[in-house]
Amino acid sequence: MPIPTAPITQLPVNKLDKHIAKNAAWATDFEADQRGLLEKLAKGQQPQLLWFGCSDSRVPESIVLDSKTPGEIFVHRNIANTFSGADDSCHSVLEYGVGHLDIKHVVVVGHTACGGCAAAFKSDPPTSKIEKSSNPDSPLINFLQPLIKLRHSLPDRSTLDDLIVANVKRGVDEICQTEVIKKNWKATEDSDELPVQVHGWMYNLSTGRLQDLGMTRSA
Ligand SMILES: [Zn+2]
Repeated sequence: MPIPTAPITQLPVNKLDKHIAKNAAWATDFEADQRGLLEKLAKGQQPQLLWFGCSDSRVPESIVLDSKTPGEIFVHRNIANTFSGADDSCHSVLEYGVGHLDIKHVVVVGHTACGGCAAAFKSDPPTSKIEKSSNPDSPLINFLQPLIKLRHSLPDRSTLDDLIVANVKRGVDEICQTEVIKKNWKATEDSDELPVQVHGWMYNLSTGRLQDLGMTRSA
């Protein structure tokens, strides 16, 4: 395919070019180290972990898990690692990951100082007006409503970390109540196949460490 030559004057082309150049160097090195693996991965994937995390740039799953090989982690990330009953995007990732890729470990990963949780933490209580009418100018505010509700369901003395943990727990609970997980647990009742496990973790931005929050659930 010919490389486009027309300049895109609105964008800082030189700054973006560095990413393309870095990718080319990575692809060359990777192929030299793991000859044929990219070609093999092009035919299919068998990831072992489904990661539901925050979009925050400081919590990139491949880096914090030291996963240097494509194909190891199936991923969904959004604001404040929110698994919502009304969101087809996260449900479709779960359905494909568990139902078609046969992933056995699903993990919801919160992180310290999460901006989405902080916004909900500082928010006023939701009003029936907000619940009934979405805000067309701010999908972000709409998206945060369940988190705002969760924040105001916690005791007044709760901290931001309490909300972050509660949000992970809610994600784990929501995932466990989905049809795809219930179906997996039923199907594995009388078989040798291991049931899916759903875990809750917390990533600490300051230390780079992941903590298992001890809320793993399975059949
Ligand atoms: Zn976050």
